[in-house]
Amino acid sequence: MAHQEHFVYRFGKLHTDGNKSMKQLLGGKGANLAEMSSIGIPVPPGFTISTEACRQTINNQMAWPDSLEEQVEAGIRHVEAEMGLKFGDEKDPLLISVRSGAAVSMPGMMDTILNLGINDRVVEALVQKTNNERFAYDSYRRFIDMFGDVVMGVAHEYFEEALDKLKKEAGVKNDIDLSAGQLKELTDRYKAIYRKQTGHMFPDDPMEQLKFAINAVFNSWNSARAIKYRKISNIHGLIGTAVNVQAMVFGNMGENSGTGVCFTRNPATGEQKLYGEFLLNAQGEDVVAGIRTPSPISELKDRNPSVYQELLNYTHKLESHYKNMQDIEFTIQEGILYILQTRNGKRTGAAAVKVAVDMVHEGIISQIEAIRDLVEPGHIEQLLHPQFQEDSLKESKILGTGLPASPGAAVGKVVFDSKLAEQEAEKGEQVILVRIETSPEDVGGMSSAKGILTSRGGMTSHAAVVARGWGKPCVAGCSDIIINYKNKSFTNGEVTVKEGEWISLNGNTGEVILGKKELTEPTFSNEYRVFMDWVGDVEVMSVRTNAETPEDAAVARSYGAQGIGLARTEHMFFKPGRVNFMRKMILANNKEERKAALANLLPFQKQDFLEIFDAMEGLPVTVRLLDPPLHEFLPQEKDEIKKVADELDVSFEKLQAKINQLKEFNPMLGHRGCRLGITYPEITEMQTQAIIEAALELTKAGKTVLPEIMIPLVGSVEEFRNQRAVVDKTAKAIIEESGQELEYKVGTMIEIPRAAIMADQIAEEADFFSFGTNDLTQLTFGFSRDDAVKFLHTYLSNGILKQDPFQVLDEEGVGQFVEAGTRLGRMTNPNLKIGICGEHGGDPESIDFAFRTGLDYVSCSPFRVPVAHLASAQSVLRKDTEESKAEELTPFDL
Ligand code: PEP
Ligand code: MG
Repeated sequence: MAHQEHFVYRFGKLHTDGNKSMKQLLGGKGANLAEMSSIGIPVPPGFTISTEACRQTINNQMAWPDSLEEQVEAGIRHVEAEMGLKFGDEKDPLLISVRSGAAVSMPGMMDTILNLGINDRVVEALVQKTNNERFAYDSYRRFIDMFGDVVMGVAHEYFEEALDKLKKEAGVKNDIDLSAGQLKELTDRYKAIYRKQTGHMFPDDPMEQLKFAINAVFNSWNSARAIKYRKISNIHGLIGTAVNVQAMVFGNMGENSGTGVCFTRNPATGEQKLYGEFLLNAQGEDVVAGIRTPSPISELKDRNPSVYQELLNYTHKLESHYKNMQDIEFTIQEGILYILQTRNGKRTGAAAVKVAVDMVHEGIISQIEAIRDLVEPGHIEQLLHPQFQEDSLKESKILGTGLPASPGAAVGKVVFDSKLAEQEAEKGEQVILVRIETSPEDVGGMSSAKGILTSRGGMTSHAAVVARGWGKPCVAGCSDIIINYKNKSFTNGEVTVKEGEWISLNGNTGEVILGKKELTEPTFSNEYRVFMDWVGDVEVMSVRTNAETPEDAAVARSYGAQGIGLARTEHMFFKPGRVNFMRKMILANNKEERKAALANLLPFQKQDFLEIFDAMEGLPVTVRLLDPPLHEFLPQEKDEIKKVADELDVSFEKLQAKINQLKEFNPMLGHRGCRLGITYPEITEMQTQAIIEAALELTKAGKTVLPEIMIPLVGSVEEFRNQRAVVDKTAKAIIEESGQELEYKVGTMIEIPRAAIMADQIAEEADFFSFGTNDLTQLTFGFSRDDAVKFLHTYLSNGILKQDPFQVLDEEGVGQFVEAGTRLGRMTNPNLKIGICGEHGGDPESIDFAFRTGLDYVSCSPFRVPVAHLASAQSVLRKDTEESKAEELTPFDL
């Protein structure tokens, strides 16, 4: 006998075909069904027709390969035997489903056909078996509709029209109100539509129905939609789709049947207890339609103890096999349990961590798998901030959506003024500070508020950066609302919210919600601590924090920060009692006056560093010298200018003139960064003196201080050289005079594209680099970090950009500068320490990029430190996994 090619694969075994993996041979769905049944899970029996059969049929002008028909028939006989039913039988009929499924999941191909095998006689058998005539005819008419539409291309609208017409005639509104008799009538009308549109009678023979359906799946491989999808998604090298043929099972065959869904553990808490619901004598649609209320799964134990026990056993089996909590759909047909589907279950952050730790303790997974596969960085983020109680969001009036600038949930009364926010908070009120945008002068109000909402500004706006630093929920750039400070209200054009009214902010989604929603506060479980300890054992890339107060530094340290990667010194000048000295420095007419003003700032600045170095004892602290344009320290509103002029004892005109003089068209490209220190070296001198004196004082007290002085916005080695000389001269003189020893480093931010491509020169003089990816993104794209929000919405919605580059590092473009800077820098200075301190330092995708580029550390706001630890550990473990996968080529690609 000639060798017969194998096209039909029964569920129950793992298959392979020499060089082809299971997925290539049977498609993703087929491989999954084969896998489940191979470990003894009772999926309804069936078989898969291989992708090769599809290829040969298409190549042969839709003629099936020689033995395919025979093999399909044998497959059906096998399913009949397994189910104890017969295809087309008038007493115990077998019904089947037919589904497509390529190796890569691919919308655009044929969907599902259910209940194939019904005809006028079979439907009567179904009436007998379910004792439900209405159900039987509803299944029949749906089958004709689905078959007509999907297999024969009869537009679904024809069937919909007929349904609407019948409902009108019957005087009912919903499909569910049609009687069995009316559905019978509808079945006939559907057959007539089929006949009219195709020119043929509806096929009565189940085997013929099946052949048509299989051909429809084969054909759908080359449908215009599928071809387009493959092109857009860059899917190449696949030969066709597989076809899955599977027995239908029914949960509505009496009280001994039923259907349900369950999670293997509680998806809200992670508790190791079956969680879900079921309905006896019902089909899945009944649960979805909400016609009957399902019972909690625990009741199945009383109603059908043996099935419950069986289900429990399978859940353990599935968890051990897939090494993850599962979300399972099942049906019980006349006392026999079938598992229809299983997938990894969605869960809350708390549940994710508990499940991961429990599964390690139960011996189901390793610690590495727990970290790599079971907890997402977003889960950890959820744990660190208050969240809305899910129920409380059910009926929400969304006033607008802005950028999810800082995660967590907050509720409070609206306040438009920062001072008022402080006063109200002192009285014990919960407030949300609502501003068009914030400036350093608002920090008092921002720190008193529960959350911050701005109508302007992007992900790196002042409000966003400061809020993230404090772990305070913030929605930024919400252009759906117009704020009117004078009227003390904001509106979205439909609802106007006045000062004192409650709103809720969702910093995870950017939603602004009317009213006061319920919150849950973060709690740190034991499992969380255990899990983060494991994460700490893996890491190779360290995580530092962006912080400029001892409080923030302490919080970050408690979360595992391994140093400070960025202390922005300008924030320190806004503390009460200091800003006027800063303003005096700005107003100075000459160097002497400037030095005198700076001398007043010195003790404050030194005190800051004493406290921060102390909080970070033994760990490196990178202090960045003054960076922002000076006008940011001066008042802008007329009343404020008057007030400040009085305080400084200068005339209004003089102050106004200075403000005008400092005005720049593009302040972000203007007199800022190292350009300040180069024009006014006395600023650099004062800051260096404060850093070094503080470090010496603590060293004398026996503490270890590792100061790193960072020069901002350098674009050329000459700029760096200039500032390094000022730092070194000042530092050396102080150290020498003290008679003590102190090591310090001087490095630079790489945040100007030119610096990245001149990095070899700069690295010859610098001890470290830190990529300021906020400015680097701004300058590479030419997008203003404060104004880009205006057009980013459009860019994102029409696909010009896939992600906001201020949130997720643009690997393709900005990433090239990071790579070049790293490579060139290490070329001339192999010991160069390199980190990233822009907002991307806390974003998991960008952290992965930083790891792949070979950076030594990432630095992010304190509340993102644990998230960054997990992301960085995952990068390491995924790389290890990929490398070991490449080494051992397995026959199955599961
Ligand atoms: C940066 O530009 O990425 C950075 C960290 O500095 P800043 O945000 O303060 O400009
Ligand atoms: Mg910068």
